[in-house]
Amino acid sequence: MTVSFELPDDVRKVSDEVRDWSLHQVRPLARESDRAKGLPAGADAVMADCPVDLSPLAIATFGRTHGDWGQEFALSGFTTNYVLGAAVSEAIGYGDSWPLATLRGSIAEKAILALGTPQQQERWVGGFMRGDFRSSAFALTEPHFGSDASQVATTATRTSDGWVIRGSKMYCSLGASADYTVVFATVDKESGRHGIRAFVVTRDTPGYIVTKAREDKLGMRAFETSGLSFDDMHVPTDALLGSEDQDSRGFYAALGTLNTSRPLTAAWAVGIASGSVDYLEQWTRQHGRAFTPRRRRGIDEEVLRMRAGLAAARRLYLRAAALQDKGVDNRREASAAKAYAPQIAEAACRRVAELMGPDGTSERHLVEKWCRDIRIFDIWEGSGQIQRLTISRMLMGSGAGRA
Ligand SMILES: Cc1cc2nc3c(=O)[nH]c(=O)nc-3n(C[C@H](O)[C@H](O)[C@H](O)COP(=O)(O)OP(=O)(O)OC[C@H]3O[C@@H](n4cnc5c(N)ncnc54)[C@H](O)[C@@H]3O)c2cc1C
Repeated sequence: MTVSFELPDDVRKVSDEVRDWSLHQVRPLARESDRAKGLPAGADAVMADCPVDLSPLAIATFGRTHGDWGQEFALSGFTTNYVLGAAVSEAIGYGDSWPLATLRGSIAEKAILALGTPQQQERWVGGFMRGDFRSSAFALTEPHFGSDASQVATTATRTSDGWVIRGSKMYCSLGASADYTVVFATVDKESGRHGIRAFVVTRDTPGYIVTKAREDKLGMRAFETSGLSFDDMHVPTDALLGSEDQDSRGFYAALGTLNTSRPLTAAWAVGIASGSVDYLEQWTRQHGRAFTPRRRRGIDEEVLRMRAGLAAARRLYLRAAALQDKGVDNRREASAAKAYAPQIAEAACRRVAELMGPDGTSERHLVEKWCRDIRIFDIWEGSGQIQRLTISRMLMGSGAGRA
């Protein structure tokens, strides 16, 4: 299928505005967000000034029109929701990535839309669609696995009036503060992925224990990543998303929702690295007079090479997003964008820091922070290695199987 690689004019206009906002308002708070390991003071005011209302934009990437839920948001005029979402993600990442910690609307809602009955969709996502932006979490990863989702060891046992969930999760984004969490558990350990089901659990459920509110991470420190434990957690029958007798198709439908966010994740990574490369150029202009022509030329060549790599990564995520907008299966393209963009972005961030010498390690320059932040983009939502495995399986004709 042919898709255009040019951003539509209206999308370009919005993403340029967002990039400008991110550079001038988000970036000045970047260092504080890193030191505070949380949102910086003034974050609310900065977010309120964002040229785009970001929660409706997140909704736009849920794959439903706002009209389905009786609500029209300011962004509903756009027909390229995924391309818009991706372009805006890159534009924000250009300034710094801390706003990611403020966004509402996650893969949890996408899982509910993929798996839930119409009543469950209305109950958990309907309010959100009408502007009541609650926060949510998606708890799949456990202490001993992440990539191989069939290893879920958290159990859900049937009782006369519901389920008892026992187990633990880690690296759960917003797990300590989310209003509700989609928890993956097995109802039958022996049957592997066929036994895995998803449950919606509110944070105030007895037995929902936050074992670590905030993981101390290398980067993305403003972003809450939590450890959870479920201690004989009783939930009602209708906490189970969909029907009890579903097979592994339900599980894959929920995991498949990650396809919709992978192009956005790739776009964030390209944004961070583009900001880093431009920072190097500015730094070179300030300090470069003392450089030999040879060193100066070397930096210019490296900048060109890094920009070419990032442009290729941008094309990959835009292609995946454009296919999504057209309603075409984009699993391969979404995986390709996720496999390539964070890797090329991480290499660029590291090279920028190297080229700046000791300045690349100093807290006076954000490039050292971006080197740390970017590492995580290759890991979450399925690591780059797993994406490459997925693509090779698709190319070899063994379906969309995901490790
Ligand atoms: C900041 C952050 C936020 C996160 N948020 C969430 C969240 O909200 N919800 C959630 O459920 N999870 C979340 N995660 C977890 C993340 O999705 C997992 O870390 C990721 O899926 C990798 O799983 P793992 O950590 O178990 O690594 P592993 O699966 O142990 O993999 C470790 C390394 O081995 C490689 N590897 C594994 N299997 C293979 C294979 N078969 N072939 C080749 N290489 C392989 C991987 O690519 C990786 O490089 C988050 C992680 C981070 C860092």
